[in-house]
Amino acid sequence: MALTEPERRKLWVKAGGRCTLCKAYLLEGNLTAKEVPLGEGAHIVGQQATPGSPRGMDSDLGADDRDKAENILLACASCHTEIDKQQVTGLLTIDELTRRKLQHENQIRHQTGLTTDRRTTVLRVQGWVRGAAMELSKDTAALAVIRSSDRFPLFMPAFDQHGIEIDLRHLPGEEEGTPAYYAAGRARIDSGVKDRLYEGIRTNQVHHLSVFAIARLPLLVYLGWALDDGVPTDVYQRHRRSDDWLWPTGGQDTQFTIEPIRDEHAEATDAILITNLSGTTHLKNLPPALTTCPAFRLRVDGDTAHEDIIATPEALSFLEKAIRRFFSNLEATNKPLQRLHVFGALPVSAAVTLGRSLKAADLRPKVVLYDLTQSGYVQVMEI
Ligand SMILES: [Zn+2]
Repeated sequence: MALTEPERRKLWVKAGGRCTLCKAYLLEGNLTAKEVPLGEGAHIVGQQATPGSPRGMDSDLGADDRDKAENILLACASCHTEIDKQQVTGLLTIDELTRRKLQHENQIRHQTGLTTDRRTTVLRVQGWVRGAAMELSKDTAALAVIRSSDRFPLFMPAFDQHGIEIDLRHLPGEEEGTPAYYAAGRARIDSGVKDRLYEGIRTNQVHHLSVFAIARLPLLVYLGWALDDGVPTDVYQRHRRSDDWLWPTGGQDTQFTIEPIRDEHAEATDAILITNLSGTTHLKNLPPALTTCPAFRLRVDGDTAHEDIIATPEALSFLEKAIRRFFSNLEATNKPLQRLHVFGALPVSAAVTLGRSLKAADLRPKVVLYDLTQSGYVQVMEI
């Protein structure tokens, strides 16, 4: 009897086309570099329970099971010959060969999996911006992932084949940005992240995340903070100029600086951070209660603020580095600081990235976020 075709296929797939023992590639001749099949099926427990069949009498395995893939090593001719020689008897035993086979097959599965798993779980957060619900469909997100990364979007069955969705629309108080609206928004984000994302991570379904979000700025920062910082994450945004979510071709890898613009009262418990990325905010327009505290400004190097200032994923990682550096310096320069009041204008991806950086900072003041309403700045959130 010999291996059936299904058993043979199982053996070759599991062994990854390599010799279980010396790891030789089994489809290329050493002498001619031609494609010649060089693999052989070597029995662990010999095919027959006779003295002439190596290891055949060391086990009571049934005759039928001896020709199953589980009992066969994929090996090169040289290794096959060697393990069956009389001289090695007792050295490469059934247990030892079985152990090598399992180890090899696990390695093949693990290593080939590492390089091929390019799937990313899509997280969509839909909210209202300036009184309008923005369209952000599953197809839109999938297209952006496929076209502008080397990954494939994953919409898991466990998540209704739609990825993870957090819906911030239809919450009461949206128009005015009431405290109830922000409380409800945070609760939606919390439950989406905890029940779905964390559950996906726990059950080993989420290895990489692609975030697509439309919402008011404080909720975007909160979202970034709520995400798990152990999962590699790409953050997308809609680009104003092209009106879509693909990263534009030929975008600039912009760099960023956070610098002090008002230094007095270094012992203050409150400080201001003005983010001038998608628009420009001036100190003089901020709430009067904060007029004497130290202030910092986040700005773009060598460019003026505009909506599409974050034009590449690299620019976003430069921004993240600048923010992280700022928080670690703050601990040294403004020790008594308890609250950092954040104002200004950030593109969507930058707001989420700010939130993610907050998670990473160990020692930092509370970050206070504001909404700009018709009656001025209203404090809406502390993180
Ligand atoms: Zn070999």
